[in-house]
Amino acid sequence: MNELFSLDLAQASQGLKHRAFSAHDLTLACLNRLKSTEPKIAACLTVLEEEALKQATALDQAGYDPSRPLWGLPLTIKDVFCLKGAPTTAGSKQLAHYHSAFEATVVTRLRAAGAIFLAKTNCDEFAMGSSTEFSAFGPTHNPYNLDRVPGGSSGGAAASVAARQAPGAFGTDTGGSIRQPAGLCGCVGLKPTYGRVSRYGIVAYASSFDQAGPLARTVADCGRLLAAVAGPDDRDSTVSRAPLGDYLNLEPVNPKDLVLGLPREFWTADLAPPVRDVLEEAKNLLTKAGVKFVEIDLPSLKFAVATYYVLATAEASSNLARYDGVRYGFRKSEARDLLEVYAKTRQTGLGAEARRRVLLGTFALSSGYYEAYFRKAAQVRRLIAVDVQKALESCHYIFAPVSSLSAWPLGSFLDDPLTIYQMDLMTIPLNLYGGPGLSLPAGLGSDKLPVGAQLWGRPLDEVGLLAAGSLLEKIWPPLAPPPLEDFS
Ligand code: GLN
Repeated sequence: MNELFSLDLAQASQGLKHRAFSAHDLTLACLNRLKSTEPKIAACLTVLEEEALKQATALDQAGYDPSRPLWGLPLTIKDVFCLKGAPTTAGSKQLAHYHSAFEATVVTRLRAAGAIFLAKTNCDEFAMGSSTEFSAFGPTHNPYNLDRVPGGSSGGAAASVAARQAPGAFGTDTGGSIRQPAGLCGCVGLKPTYGRVSRYGIVAYASSFDQAGPLARTVADCGRLLAAVAGPDDRDSTVSRAPLGDYLNLEPVNPKDLVLGLPREFWTADLAPPVRDVLEEAKNLLTKAGVKFVEIDLPSLKFAVATYYVLATAEASSNLARYDGVRYGFRKSEARDLLEVYAKTRQTGLGAEARRRVLLGTFALSSGYYEAYFRKAAQVRRLIAVDVQKALESCHYIFAPVSSLSAWPLGSFLDDPLTIYQMDLMTIPLNLYGGPGLSLPAGLGSDKLPVGAQLWGRPLDEVGLLAAGSLLEKIWPPLAPPPLEDFS
């Protein structure tokens, strides 16, 4: 039998159901794996060892419960989700010692479904970034190459799943932060439709974009995790009341019935050679299986990065105003008056990237500039959304690279924020549109790094998206796990 830590969620669930091993056995195997890999990966900010083992024992004593779809399954969760009994830092010094008095709806629902939390994972500060290097607690390393970034901002979540610390994780995707790290670490990542999953109890970055979703090693596992958390929540009025799909039983898709749209702008873009090679091969395999491709245009795409960074920073400047050193979190108290408390607290508590975004966002919202920047960006957001919506009329799903580069060397772009922002080009348009997106491992490049491909779907069509994703996953050869000797 496989090592317990390397089982995916479906396999682990089967084993638990048939009592091939206990929840305690599985949790312990994952925790041991976590402890042996963590010195090199640094995916986790808080490890919940004692709590996790206690929970597993309690589940074992109560006995397997088929009504709980995640019974006994260990997960990690990005450190932006409030979880009682552990700090919620959002990767920031500002919240380094913050313990919430309440729990995120996602956490509550996962617990109710029987999941066990192993650890809270590293992320860029307040989920602002694409490499996890903007965490106040140091970077996470990519399990496929320890000198490379895992992507971000949910880089710890992706690295923990890739390194077999846990079979599944939760992250958030505001502008690509589930799909891009999943792509760079060779996992499957699902960004649900904006409004499919409650944002209650998640540290806010840009509230009109933020969306929680799963990372796992298979598409079906992502469906299983989505099923546990999706749906209305009285504590978040932006959650849709539209009926949920059956994310657990995906209908097989006939490849001959599937039409995928290729955005011309992405496929003519500067894709790094290993990325291009893997994706071309992945496309060829799909064509051979009968999938049809049509070229599509997204004319407003060239405005997507600028639009997103005006809107997201504007929302961030408003959301981060609460970190004033008075209400909660870090406070710099050597100050002469209240204004100096605010200034010094934010100067010390927030990292350079978070401060840059607050400044950019405050500027875009300030009197005289609001019309020129924020309002314009809000209008262009609509144009981009209409482009994506129109493109989806000529195909079932849009098929795109996740990133033009595979995982880059740590430290490469730290002094170059604009280049980092530009690298979000292939994930951001979907967040401006609001629809669901699925990132899948398309293969390993000549540089031995994973390459991700993504599908974009219509709002609330997670079922169709997951079903199409399952087909692609079956056609493509399975991704080799990261080289295990790196960890010993
Ligand atoms: N990289 C993007 C940003 O920095 C997206 C981050 C996210 O999705 N949380 O804003």
